[in-house]
Amino acid sequence: ERATTEELARFVCSDCGRVCRSYTQLSWHIRDAHPGDLDAAAHAVLDRDAHRVADQQAEQPQREHERREARRKPGEPRVSPRPPLPPPYFADIQLGALFGNMRTFRWYAHQELIGTSNHDAPSAIAREQEDTVGSLQPLLIDARRGLSPMRAVVDGLLDKLGLRFHTVTIEVELTPGEPPVAVVMHYRKLDAMARFLFRFVTPEHCRPRRLVERSSGDRVYADPYSGDVLLELCGAIQARDPSAIAFALKLYWDDTNLTKNGERSACPVSVTSLALPLEQARQPSNGMLLSYLSKVPDRAMLEVSDARKTTVRKLLFRAQMRHLFSGMRDRSMISLVGTTAVGAHGQAERIYPVVLGLSLDYPKIAQVTQTLQNQACWMCYARKGPGFWSHESFDLRSNATQRAHIGRAWALHPHSAAARADHTRPLGLHPDPNPAFEVVGLDVFQGTAIPLMHFCEHGTGQKLMECTFQLMQSSLSSRDFKALGKQIDAWITARVVPLHMTKCAFSRGISHYLYGAYINPLDPWEGTVKFGQIASADTLRDILRFWRLLLVDISPGCPQLLELFTVYFEWLELMYRRAHTDGSLRYASDLNEQWQDLAISLFGKEHFEDSIKFHAAGAHLADWTTGRGSLLYYNDAYGELLNKSNAKEPWRRTNYHRGPHGAEEQMTTVVSRTDLLKLLLQLAERADASPAPPPPLASPQLGPPSRLMGVRETVCRIDLGAAQNIHPSLLQLPFSV
Ligand SMILES: [Zn+2]
Ligand SMILES: [Zn+2]
Repeated sequence: ERATTEELARFVCSDCGRVCRSYTQLSWHIRDAHPGDLDAAAHAVLDRDAHRVADQQAEQPQREHERREARRKPGEPRVSPRPPLPPPYFADIQLGALFGNMRTFRWYAHQELIGTSNHDAPSAIAREQEDTVGSLQPLLIDARRGLSPMRAVVDGLLDKLGLRFHTVTIEVELTPGEPPVAVVMHYRKLDAMARFLFRFVTPEHCRPRRLVERSSGDRVYADPYSGDVLLELCGAIQARDPSAIAFALKLYWDDTNLTKNGERSACPVSVTSLALPLEQARQPSNGMLLSYLSKVPDRAMLEVSDARKTTVRKLLFRAQMRHLFSGMRDRSMISLVGTTAVGAHGQAERIYPVVLGLSLDYPKIAQVTQTLQNQACWMCYARKGPGFWSHESFDLRSNATQRAHIGRAWALHPHSAAARADHTRPLGLHPDPNPAFEVVGLDVFQGTAIPLMHFCEHGTGQKLMECTFQLMQSSLSSRDFKALGKQIDAWITARVVPLHMTKCAFSRGISHYLYGAYINPLDPWEGTVKFGQIASADTLRDILRFWRLLLVDISPGCPQLLELFTVYFEWLELMYRRAHTDGSLRYASDLNEQWQDLAISLFGKEHFEDSIKFHAAGAHLADWTTGRGSLLYYNDAYGELLNKSNAKEPWRRTNYHRGPHGAEEQMTTVVSRTDLLKLLLQLAERADASPAPPPPLASPQLGPPSRLMGVRETVCRIDLGAAQNIHPSLLQLPFSV
């Protein structure tokens, strides 16, 4: 990256005039060349941080766009960049006035971010005030009251912005007829969150558009606003309210362990604005915590029968879904009146928040769509068996058709749950009423995304590699296969590590990641070869990177295998594209059929007939992309990052207690405060960065910089007789000296 001379002028050391390439280099220079000058060092760090914030929010989309152009694959359509994101709208929040002054705000915000407890706060405040007596901006906190007054200000802001968590108590009957157990759920209101997220974008970002490739005339599908669903939805809304804006959101949720043994876990639900460019949408900081889905305490479940446990879990899940979407629940989108929100452009707009997509792993997909897990596809009527491996295409499900099926089951068998289940089983459906049908804008069947990572790297990619090993295993004696395994490990340790193209170090070869290594570390190639739990998505992605090379070197005698993986990798690349045309989607579906046929002829269909991953990823790529844009916006790999920021990190700042005011409630408090303070700190830093004019370019050729003594010399050389020119009263000066 080359900086222009104008940009360079901003990276000049004010002490020695040295010109640096970046703020980072400047702060290193000051650290090394002027070790004693703390003021200069502090300024350099502040400048660098402000620059970084401004960079992240304003310049990156452009830079990302240039990088993307450079990386664009042959055949991938060119998409004009989304409009650059202006700074978010926060003109209604005056930090200096709210917190007394900016220093008080900054100091307080940093205490919250590092996790200073209210118990330690009084002495920290007192010490800070004592150390900085006479500072231009005094620290305006009463040490005796700790952080509480500031927290009250933040809580007021959370209320104003609609970011405060609410609690609801759900009563669950564990055993029918006995007193229910109370489960507390913490949630933010989705409509308020939508209004908050709209502050970051402009109406321009929420305008559905029909992209066309000039050369071929093909439609282009890239971001969610270039897909058919938002085009139609927006048309329907604007037929009633021409200036209305459809504001698309994505939800992600998944269980995550909080303790190593899995005894404590959480299920954070996060909401992301789909109007953001992909670079922003996939950053964990933009996935805001919406809720924690609670569970019935394990101890309470101990004496409940297994069948009843399943029922209880379903009842609780449905009750929580209903609360989560209560703010925007209505039968149809059109009947909603929308809500008023101010965008980044500073003007109030009428927005209609819609949940365009859910990003979940497969067990959660089956739960939310209420389709039979591992038995039926959630998007179409394909069933386990030939439905999963043949190329037959099935009708797609929709909210309307599935609701009709469930309604029919209830009308026919109002008194028998078993008869209702029998009625909907051939459809691959549970007959329970589904609260997800009421979520505005969401078709839960077509709008629940294919989980890319779980279905590709962790799905078909892993499966095809395992099948390859098993094929070799079945055609060799166990001694020969063991020798081959050793050869493979040796190839990997020799070839892969020096290349530095992988995230994981394969110092122990591939066998380290096999289930066999867990059973018998001395002979990991014994037994049916399968990857173990230890093989993460990163590991599998790495192995896929060198897999074809490995096959060429280790097993040159099987051209079919090589062809399978050649086609598979080409298809995989298409799955991960950020933009498609009608043509590239047709090509992807051809490739999908090709590699599936090759896999079946090599390994046999029995490996794939109960694998939803084998069916859904390839079969529904085109439906998804034409409707809702590139799958990358809904990538479950980005979603998993949210478990860290929205559950694991706040967990460490709780007292780990269970119960109504326990860890979960404390986590919501931590998340809501730190989220907001991080954002406000960034805003403050950018406000500092923008009005300051760049320092003038110092020229090092002018000799040594002026020092205090030098200034005095100059004063002494003034002709005393000329002093009266400055002020008449100085006329007497020559005489008095
Ligand atoms: Zn210097
Ligand atoms: Zn399907």
